[in-house]
Amino acid sequence: MAGSNDLIVIGAGPAGLAAAWRAAQRGMKVTLLERADHVGGLAASFEVGGVRVDQGSHRLDPNTPPALLSDLHALLGDDLQRRRRTSRIRVGDQWLALPLRADEVARRLPPSLLARVARDSTIAKFRRQPSDTYGGLVRSRVGPALYESVYGPLAEKHWGMPGDRISADQARRQTDRMGTWRVAARTLARSRRGRGGAQTGGYFYPRTGFGQLVEALADAAVTAGVEIRCEAEVDRVRVTEDEVEVSTQDGDVITGGLVFSTLPLPVLARISRPAPSLTSIESSARLRYRALLLVYVVHQGGRWTPHDSHDIPDPRTPVVRISEPPNYRNNPADPADRSVLCAEIPCSMTDDVWGLDDESLADLVDETLGLTGLPKANRVQVATRRIGQVHPIYRVGYEQDLIDVDTWARMIRRVVTLGRQGLFVLDNVDQALLMAYDAVDAIRDDGRFDRYAWTVARERFARSAHDV
Ligand SMILES: Cc1cc2nc3c(=O)[nH]c(=O)nc-3n(C[C@H](O)[C@H](O)[C@H](O)COP(=O)(O)OP(=O)(O)OC[C@H]3O[C@@H](n4cnc5c(N)ncnc54)[C@H](O)[C@@H]3O)c2cc1C
Repeated sequence: MAGSNDLIVIGAGPAGLAAAWRAAQRGMKVTLLERADHVGGLAASFEVGGVRVDQGSHRLDPNTPPALLSDLHALLGDDLQRRRRTSRIRVGDQWLALPLRADEVARRLPPSLLARVARDSTIAKFRRQPSDTYGGLVRSRVGPALYESVYGPLAEKHWGMPGDRISADQARRQTDRMGTWRVAARTLARSRRGRGGAQTGGYFYPRTGFGQLVEALADAAVTAGVEIRCEAEVDRVRVTEDEVEVSTQDGDVITGGLVFSTLPLPVLARISRPAPSLTSIESSARLRYRALLLVYVVHQGGRWTPHDSHDIPDPRTPVVRISEPPNYRNNPADPADRSVLCAEIPCSMTDDVWGLDDESLADLVDETLGLTGLPKANRVQVATRRIGQVHPIYRVGYEQDLIDVDTWARMIRRVVTLGRQGLFVLDNVDQALLMAYDAVDAIRDDGRFDRYAWTVARERFARSAHDV
């Protein structure tokens, strides 16, 4: 291959790390460039008040394909724990266990809402119809009552716009969670008294935080020969006749025969040379991401609750979820005298909440606890994190913009985009890892990239939808 590297990977999130590792295992010379001072991307962990925390609630899908799971077991050994879910969701003035249990739904939902849910479920088969919007599709799947009390408010907080302005693609990527509501609602409709319907839930989680997984991947990549450079923000990708030059903000230029980019697509469009057409640039500017504000409150006095996470559709607060990281794992090294709450606030970087100071954000979390009947936190410390580009926003009409930009990106010689931001897809870690494997497997022995194999892999990926 031309250039000093066989492969340059941009971004050390799960996708970039897995791709670099797998390529190095195949004997390729790989350099991985990461903007942050640490690896892991959105899946990284770090410490607050002596407790390892994640960037919002992260769990590994229990249905992760066996071959991938076996790689992760090999990397993490017994530290990859199988855990039981202890999550809850606020519906009306009640906390319900997730996955939902029909008996609990029947016992705890306010009678008026319960009656509407049961009625919606009975007539569901007559109502199911296709729709272009999240609001339309979800209403037809779970019924208006659940939409208005759970999905509508959650979507509006997550995406900053009503469900009727969000594309139906968003709903298609959320089938599991909707499935649990449908099962509960159907069981309710059958029994009305809500017998049975209990579901099992579970997930995998590493002993020292979700980030242990990406740290293990990074260690394995380095052992296989990958050079990982942190604090190397890529600001130019220039394709020449026989190689690609990747430049970083501090002036380094790295050359290689092939580049895997997990950069957000609009960023790649902005920094690529030759530049895309004006149409692609305009389309890429319309692809927007939601930002995420994370507020970590250190609670003194043991565990705050016995639950791993609390989903909060309540429109009176911008907080969508509060998780308690130590409850995701069994780690005797976690401090016994304190815990940490992590509040997730999806927002736009122009929202007032983005500019609030730490104490005001901690007060907002306190207020949320009060509004939703959660126990008060004995706050001794606060930390915050702001992440600018997190969730791709699937507004109605985004599809054509994505096609325009993706068509350009697929044509760039020697450059392949992958990962959450690179494909503008709401993926999970298991999917990001599998994508990375598929991308490396599409590199032929002569170093050329098999675009056809990659297209097939991408189609498979687009068909898989789930949330954990
Ligand atoms: C709140 C939240 C909860 C989630 N929960 C789960 C869950 O329960 N289970 C699950 O499986 N998944 C979950 N996910 C999704 C998971 O985090 C992502 O699927 C995964 O991190 C995507 O990996 P990636 O490598 O594609 O992207 P990222 O993790 O976004 O990594 C991209 C990397 O590129 C780097 N980068 C960006 N710009 C540059 C530049 N110019 N130069 C160099 N480097 C750059 C970034 O710093 C980052 O490290 C969750 C995500 C969020 C936000």
